[in-house]
Amino acid sequence: MKKLIPDVICESVFAIDLDKLKKRDISGLLVDIDNTLVPWGEPEMEGAFVAWVKEVKQKGFKVCLVSNAKKPRAENFATLLDIPAVGLALKPLGRAFRRGMALLNLGPREVAVVGDQLFTDVFGGNRLGIYTILINPLSTNELDSTKILRRIEQRILGKMVKLGHISAKHAQIRQGRE
Ligand SMILES: [Mg+2]
Repeated sequence: MKKLIPDVICESVFAIDLDKLKKRDISGLLVDIDNTLVPWGEPEMEGAFVAWVKEVKQKGFKVCLVSNAKKPRAENFATLLDIPAVGLALKPLGRAFRRGMALLNLGPREVAVVGDQLFTDVFGGNRLGIYTILINPLSTNELDSTKILRRIEQRILGKMVKLGHISAKHAQIRQGRE
């Protein structure tokens, strides 16, 4: 279970403490797309998220999208945001995160993974020793297989609270959704 524990849980990308990341010498973000920056399957990214990526870049971070979505979807958003992307990433496999780090020219201690899923984003990042940030999914609309995984995620997060790995306050961020 250790590899499933996120370093931090945030309500959304907007709640990520960028100064705290800087203090940890993190200067790059490997960011998931679906349900992290865009509601799952939606073709457009809301302006607030585009602005967030811009702000992150202005603060001196390098950003790369790392998404299990098909390449054209990942590349469309990458073009919109003017950042690189690794599409069809097959997370939690390490390959895509390694590619993302290579594109940013940064190592595992210098980046953070940002995503909404324990089994892909958090597990994949932790396996490579990357700082992991779990956020609340933007939408409950997702693949049936993901819906099943969500129930398991909830149970695991509950267990993490019991064992003291994460705070109840943090786990609560995940409550109130199906
Ligand atoms: Mg996602």
